[in-house]
Amino acid sequence: MMKVNELLAAASRPVFSFEFFPPRDENGEATLSRVLGNLKPLSPGFVSVTYGAGGSTRSKTLEWAARIRAEVGCEAVVHQTCLGVTRAEIDEMLNAMQAEGLKNILALRGDPPRDGQPVKSAFEHASELVAYIRSVFPDACILAACHPEGHMESPSRTADLDHLKRKVDAGVDVLVSQIFFDNRAFFDFFGRARSKGISVPIVPGIMPIQSTDQIKRFAELCGASLPSQLLHLLELYKETPKAVFYIGVAHAVAQASELLANGVPAVHFYTLNKSPATRLVVQALTS
Ligand code: FAD
Repeated sequence: MMKVNELLAAASRPVFSFEFFPPRDENGEATLSRVLGNLKPLSPGFVSVTYGAGGSTRSKTLEWAARIRAEVGCEAVVHQTCLGVTRAEIDEMLNAMQAEGLKNILALRGDPPRDGQPVKSAFEHASELVAYIRSVFPDACILAACHPEGHMESPSRTADLDHLKRKVDAGVDVLVSQIFFDNRAFFDFFGRARSKGISVPIVPGIMPIQSTDQIKRFAELCGASLPSQLLHLLELYKETPKAVFYIGVAHAVAQASELLANGVPAVHFYTLNKSPATRLVVQALTS
């Protein structure tokens, strides 16, 4: 099995990757199994499995990463956050990954609890987690997040880029972006990152829109702006889920095809454990 950075370097065609979260119950497990069956024929370059996002069970991340790798037959990336996570929990994950032969890890900070309570963490920023992983698991392929429109908490895009540069220098091999809906934000960020000396591959993250209210909420949480024309359409068809679904598919196809035409090596899809939109988008891009 390959490391994601090697896979990107060796690929002669665009790489598509899919992100999943570990299901919370048996229904969710059955759904994810079905979704994996639907997406497997698209031959993803890799899949990734979130850690603790949206309250999902942390202990299931590794289990699902190993399972998806076996079932789909592609490399799996394990997400690991550090906010509210102890060193022992991180060590446990790294040891279990090595026992499973998993080498790809997406090192993240995570988000503070909404109640504002302070949490005990081994590391405060993703850059510290990256440095730690690099020191104890030198052979790992370390992925990390980047935020094309600037991270929500950052006072400026310049400060955010300074922190990103430090994070990459701590040992990042590949960056995966937060969602965005306007490619100009990505291209602008990409140019600034390269000028700053960030030379690792930067994979754009795309979320096919599935519902008007949901995407407005996500965009606000992630600090991603929704172009006014797109927002207008989404509001107009808000009560017609099928229309919103196809607006989302069309927008994701347009975004991904322009990104690929401009030389990005890969596109990462936030699937939300659903297959129809991602399948249509990837089919359109590969047909
Ligand atoms: P960091 O790189 O630590 O940056 C966070 C903020 O701190 C930024 O504003 C940055 O500028 C600032 N900063 C960094 N270093 C310093 C410093 N030394 N001093 C001062 N400020 C600093 N969340 C989950 O809970 N689970 C997941 O599985 C998950 N998967 C994700 C996958 C992807 C591809 C992405 C893009 C996000 C994911 N998230 C996940 C969300 C992520 O945890 C949040 O976006 C989080 O708010 C920031 O994470 P980060 O790793 O970018 O943080």
